[in-house]
Order: sequence, then C-alpha cells, then structure tokens
Amino acid sequence: MAQFWKPGTERPPLLDDEEGGILLYSASSASSGYGFVSIEKQRQRLPVFKYRTSILYLVETHATTIIVGETGSGKTTQIPQYLKEAGWADGGRVIACTQPRRLAVQAVASRVAEEMGVKLGEEVGYTIRFEDLTDRDLTRIKFLTDGVLLREMMDDPLLTKYSVIMVDEAHERSISTDILLGLLKKIQRRRPELRLVIASATIEAKSMAAFFHTSKKHRGLEGGDGVPKTEPAILSVEGRGFNVQIFYVEEPVPDYIQAAVSTVMSIHDQEPMGDILVFLTGQDDIEAAVRLLTEEAQNNGKPSSGLVVLPLYSGLSRAEQDLIFSPTPRGKRKVVISTNIAETSLTLEGVVYVVDSGFSKQRFYNPISDIENLVVAPISKASARQRAGRAGRVRPGKCYRLYSEEHFVKEMSAEGIPEIQRSNLVSCVIQLKALGIDNILGFDWPASPSPEAMIRALEVLYSLGVLDDDAKLTSPTGFQVAEIPLDPMISKMILASNQLGCSEEIITIAAILSIQSIWFSVRGQQKELDEAKLRFAAAEGDHVTFLNVYKGFLQSGKSSKWCHKNFVNYHAMRKVIEIREQLRRIAQRIGIVVKSCESDMQVVRKAVTAGFFANACNLEAFSHSGMYKTVRSSQEVYIHPSSVLFRVNPKWVIYHSLVSTDRQYMRNVISIDPSWLIEAAPHFYQHQRLNSIPH
Ligand code: ADP
Ligand code: MG
Repeated sequence: MAQFWKPGTERPPLLDDEEGGILLYSASSASSGYGFVSIEKQRQRLPVFKYRTSILYLVETHATTIIVGETGSGKTTQIPQYLKEAGWADGGRVIACTQPRRLAVQAVASRVAEEMGVKLGEEVGYTIRFEDLTDRDLTRIKFLTDGVLLREMMDDPLLTKYSVIMVDEAHERSISTDILLGLLKKIQRRRPELRLVIASATIEAKSMAAFFHTSKKHRGLEGGDGVPKTEPAILSVEGRGFNVQIFYVEEPVPDYIQAAVSTVMSIHDQEPMGDILVFLTGQDDIEAAVRLLTEEAQNNGKPSSGLVVLPLYSGLSRAEQDLIFSPTPRGKRKVVISTNIAETSLTLEGVVYVVDSGFSKQRFYNPISDIENLVVAPISKASARQRAGRAGRVRPGKCYRLYSEEHFVKEMSAEGIPEIQRSNLVSCVIQLKALGIDNILGFDWPASPSPEAMIRALEVLYSLGVLDDDAKLTSPTGFQVAEIPLDPMISKMILASNQLGCSEEIITIAAILSIQSIWFSVRGQQKELDEAKLRFAAAEGDHVTFLNVYKGFLQSGKSSKWCHKNFVNYHAMRKVIEIREQLRRIAQRIGIVVKSCESDMQVVRKAVTAGFFANACNLEAFSHSGMYKTVRSSQEVYIHPSSVLFRVNPKWVIYHSLVSTDRQYMRNVISIDPSWLIEAAPHFYQHQRLNSIPH
C-alpha cells in the first residue's frame, strides 16, 4: 500500500508551518445524532441553534445575510425551518433554498420533511429538473437546484412567491449560482421586501458582502419602516468538530484508485471502528474502487461482511441514497466512496477516516478550440481542508491524503476557479437573453467570464439561429430553444425534428442523452456488456442504437427482467420514460407536432446535425489509429471505446460530448453526410473549412 508517515515516527520536514500537518477544528460540543435522542434534541444540539435568534434578527433587518459555517453545523436543514417558524412562510409565501446538486436537493428535502414530521412534497418539497415534488398550495419550504430557480424566473422574473431565498453552498461557485447571485441582486432593487441568505462552508464572505452592497444612491430609506439595511450582514457559525490528523504519502502514487483501496484495507485492518469516506472523482473510478474493495476484502480471507462498501455519486436511485444515510449496522464498518458531493453538500454521520485522492472532475473550457471537457484535475487547498474536516464530526479523526505534502503546498491552488470562468457559456447566454438581459458583457457578475468565451457562445447561438444580428433572441426559434430546459444544441435538434417529421424519435434521444448512461455495467462483465450492446447496435451510430434499446424496452412491456438480460439499466430507462413524457409536454406547449418517422433514420441524423453541426469531425485520411479532426478547430479526437462506432470509424461523424483521459474521446457518436452540415449551418464554417467538405 501507499506509504504514509505516521505520528511518532520520524517524518519529512514540514514545508508549510501554517499547515503543520494537522488541522485543528475547535472541539466545542459533543456529537449528536447518536443513540436515541429525539429529533428536537438533535436539532438543538447543532451549532446553528445557538445562533437562531441572531440569524432571525439579521434576516429581519438586512436585505442580505451571509452565513458562514462548517459543514454539518445545520445551515441547510435548520435555517429554512427557523425562517418558517418565524413566520416567513405565512400568507402563502414560500421559503426557497437552492443547492448546486440535484442529489443534495433530494437528500436535504427528505431530511427536513422527516424532522418536521411532514410528508415530502407537501409542506416541504423539492424541485429538480424533470422532477417536481411540491404542492402549489401546501409547500412552504422548497429546496431546488439553482438552475431550476433560474428557470422559474422565465415565468416570474421577480420570483414573487418567495419571501426568503437562501442560496446555499455559495462557496462552490457553480455557474448557475453565480448567474443567480447576479440576478438576485437586480431583483432586490425591485423587491426591497425580499430577503437573501447566502450560506457557505468557506466563502470569502467579505467579497460576497462587497458584491451585494448596493451603491449609495440606493440607500437612504434603509433602516426605517421595515425597510431592511442594504449593507449585508455577515454571521459566522462557530464550527464544531474534532482534531483531524493528516497523513501524506511519501511518494506520489501511480494509481489513486488502487492506493485508495489499499489505504481503506489497512485502515480496516489497523484502526478502531469508525466509518471511512473516500473521495474519488466520478462514477467510473468509484465503481472500480467498489469492485476492487469487494474483491480485496474477500481475498484477504476477511469476510467482506465486515465492510459495507457504498458508492455515492449523482444519479443514484433513492434506495441507494437511503443506504448512504442509514446507520452503520453494529459491528460493521461503512465505506462510502464518493465524488466531491460529500465534501460540503451532504453530511454523513459516523465518518472517522477520510481518504482523499486529491482529485475531482472539473469542467474546463477552451474558447480557442471551443472544446469543453470534464477533466480529472487536482483539487484546491480549500477543498482538501474541507475533505479532511469530514473526518472530525463524531470524534477525533484521521485523513489520509494520497498525495505528498510538497504537492499540497506547492502544486495545489489556494481556491478553485469559479465555474463560470472555465465553462462553455452557451446555456448561460441564452438564459440571460431570455430574461431580457441584453448587455451580457456588462452584466454585474460575482466573477466575470472571459470575453472570448462570451463571444464564442454568441457565435454558436447565432449560427443555431437563436440570436439575430443584434444579438437578440429570434422569434420563434430563440424563444422556443430557451423554453426547453436542455442544452441549446439539444433544444435546436428537437425544433429541427419538427420540420423533419421525427420528433418522437428525437425526443427519445434527447431524454437518453440527458442521463448519464442507459447501460448497466456489472463488475468484470465488460465483455458481456459489449455483446449485449451489439444486439442493439445500429450502423448509423449511438443515437440510433438508443432508439433500438428504447423500442426493445417498450416491446418487453417495460420489463426489468428484459433490462437485466440485456445489460440495460432499468432504473435509467424508467427515468428516460419520465423525462421523455415531460419533454413531450414541453414540445407540445411550444407548438411542436409530436410525430414519428417510423424507420427513416436519415431524417433523425439530419435533425441531430441541425443541433450539433458544431461538433462535426472528419476522419484523417491515412489514419490507421482512427484519428479524427474537428472541422471547427482541427483538434485531434477519437471515438470512445464505449461507442458502437468504435473501430468502425465512418468518414464523417458528429459527437455529443468529449471526455478527456489520455486523449480526447468522443462519446455518443453518429455518422453523417457532410453535405448536411452546409444545409444545417451555411454561415457557420468559414470558407476554407467549407472547401474541405465535399459538396
Ligand atoms: P450544513 O448545511 O451546515 O452542512 P446540514 O443542515 O446539512 O448542515 O446538516 C446538519 C446535521 O443534520 C448533520 O450534521 C446531520 O447530523 C444531520 N443530517 C443532515 N442530513 C441528514 C440525513 N439525510 N440523514 C441523517 N442526518 C442528517
Ligand atoms: Mg449544507
């Protein structure tokens, strides 16, 4: 296993005194949540409880209140309840609490409903994209993603039904959070009675306060007659938690999945009881680690029953989520292998050991090549500290970092970069346009996106026919595309399918593309999965293959047995049906006639091209390695091994997304005729590029 230096043995000199190898958390109060303590008692033991009166006073008297507090101190679950108890939800008003992650929205809402003893979906509800569990008349506390709240602004620009909006996890600086903060600041000017609460684990509170401090000319009224002060209040909730001892590896580890697995095994071997939380990056490496751990536990002759290994990533079913939060069975040790969702969004009770890979999946966008990737990249020091802190909730804990201290000190940046500065801005621009914000460069951003990225986005939207020469939304196309809660390229594909007479098929494809995967990958059964895929494989590519799977699923009577037999993920297919139904309703609302093209797959491919022409690629002549170049910017890309077109290598393809590992891989690929590109977007490709496309 990886070599860690341990207390008591000689260790390399510390490079950074301030860090000191040990993080100190004030150990102020005893742990809660254990034993048979009533929910009321548990609530009172949370650190925020001491601040209940102050929080309510500040919200009453200030337009914006910024609350900073350690993860697990009760911000998300308690503050909305305090606000409700104080009357902020009286008279039909609603308290909103936003989260960047869907899974956190669901988990937190169900916890709060449980604490209040109400049925989820009634007094306490949640809304995430494609799933609305609220009641128009009954819901008083509503959890939702920040993206959904942005969408709600399209119907109700001033968000009039909300009395308080709590923007939670603000330190994450997700793209939607940043857009939301900018827009809420505007709304505040028109609705002085609206209160904002901005909550976070580590936020740089001063800069956030400066952002919300409106200029002098808007002041003057404040303070009197129930008009709140515009200067934001800052409240810091004293953390709880215990010392966490940090261990670094002595040498960089070649394979963090393997290193994580052996570290877990040796903790299980040598350390007293207590659950383990492992931070990896995404579904793939998490599943791999789960598999290795299960095998390893068996090989060592130790019954794997001693370890309860659970994955945690977005896209888990409710039942799988519930397992994560249920108490560890007596005499067992829970190992949760998670993405950075467990960094600050969710609190797991009972964690004493943290294993930190030092990586997370992050979005990176290069406006020059116009390529956006999800990349496994080093986390920031701030994230590393948060991860370590998760070990100190119930008693003193230990954090095993799978990177060297030198790496921590020298290589890791202090803070992450806000997502808006490393993302493709197409969706962001269209949303702001739909909300009537015309001067996007001049928009009041918490952190400004790069002008290059902005220009790229405008260019793509223009070529999609969504924006006109004055950069205004076109009618009806622009407004229709904005109305569909999907990536504008998918929305455009749906609109095009209307003219081409294949909207039934395209809506199915859109639904499938909006979930992670419809395949069921079983440990060690990659070969069987590949064979199963072949049963559905279409020469045209993955999109048409999806249609075959969907058809098979319907013909089976939506049978879970059928799914099992064909390595199709039943849970994912149920979700597809649900999303499809909603997309169908949206399509009909914006005037699309939902119609099938039966077996004419050419029109389906044309519709895909109409949305995704910007992702066209051409196979390099004489390339034996299957190398493609993007038509747009001549980037080198390859077909992903999971695609049915892997090794088939048609001359012209369009991809849905890129993943980058050792190379740039295209996921979900369809073959096209290059002449369709010119049909779909005559102005898009520059002349020299057009020349390379045979007419
Ligand atoms: P914060 O938002 O400050 O990170 P939370 O309000 O999410 O804190 O959590 C406060 C406490 O509530 C946690 O420390 C935990 O004890 C409890 N809790 C939260 N969510 C759950 C859940 N799903 N199941 C059990 N306990 C939970
Ligand atoms: Mg929280």
